[in-house]
Amino acid sequence: MRPEKENPLIDESLAAESKQGGDDAAGLPSRLTRYSRAHHRAVEMADYLSEAGEVKLGRNLALCGHYLLFRDYYTVGKVRLHAAKFCHKHLLCPLCAIRRGARMVKAYMDRLAVIKAENPRLKAYLVTFTVKDGPDLSERFAHLHSSLTRLHKTRHGKGQWSEARKAAGAVWSYEFKRGQGSGAWHPHVHAVWLCEDAPDMYKLRAEWEAITGDSFMVDVRPFHDQDDVLNGFLEVFKYAVKFADLSLDDAWHGYQTLSGRRLIASFGAFRGVDVPEDLTDEGLDDLPYVELLYRFVRGAGYSFSEDGPAHERSMPPDPVRRASKRVLPSPRRDALPDPKKPHWRPPIDPERYARAKGDG
Ligand SMILES: [Zn+2]
Repeated sequence: MRPEKENPLIDESLAAESKQGGDDAAGLPSRLTRYSRAHHRAVEMADYLSEAGEVKLGRNLALCGHYLLFRDYYTVGKVRLHAAKFCHKHLLCPLCAIRRGARMVKAYMDRLAVIKAENPRLKAYLVTFTVKDGPDLSERFAHLHSSLTRLHKTRHGKGQWSEARKAAGAVWSYEFKRGQGSGAWHPHVHAVWLCEDAPDMYKLRAEWEAITGDSFMVDVRPFHDQDDVLNGFLEVFKYAVKFADLSLDDAWHGYQTLSGRRLIASFGAFRGVDVPEDLTDEGLDDLPYVELLYRFVRGAGYSFSEDGPAHERSMPPDPVRRASKRVLPSPRRDALPDPKKPHWRPPIDPERYARAKGDG
């Protein structure tokens, strides 16, 4: 797979989040650095929105990831994100986009494993469709969407062959960026197709040109081994993450134009994959943990909070309107201390923490 030059950090974030060992305790500092870069962008977007009169949306963005509560399962060296406030505006907020993208990558990779166990002859292909660049994002999205729908309909057409008939299942996403050179919107679709027989790229290009009338550009790449499978799914699910890397003007225009549209869809064997809405990590049942609270400081990133969760909940965490008191959600029932388990006590004494982890 080609490296993404234009947006290395955010793309790497989704990759780092999705790979095995992404929740290792040793990786927490770099994970916090990634989240910090992501949240700094959200704060810039929040300023932009506030100036544009979108105060409420801006505040949601600024508060998203303002604090992060992790659980350190020190007996197994894993750190899971237990609680945070999320804005769920993944077209504007890189932190939400990274977390949601990672959820999707995992859900579809899990489904792929089940599908391949049932039919080992199916292979995954990364198929990319492009239409001509244009100045009107809404018009280009409509054109790309209707063209793809027409192509998919040929799977069921009578008396006519289509390369799309080879796909037993597909999942795809719409991605938009500014075209290099043209500066116009460059819409494209990244899809994972599951096929027993390889799709013929040249036949598919001819079909696509007949449908779109303005572009024959289709790229087909097989990805068979496990590493490549991850890369293929990353390509599909990074779309919103890249969106959040547009200029602030473009990201806001894109959000207004496309929020509410379905930018990820599927058919066949990939239908009905369940992606959890919750953006926190699953906990590790019955393992002891220590809770670690990090708080975002603009310009500095995340810093460990000695004060702990109880203090955080009593603070006005609103960076846009500091004067207004805002109460964060009360702890989930399962976050209440269990007397059998070590749990957070204010403040965390480094020596006691080291002893708890067995290092001292
Ligand atoms: Zn967010």
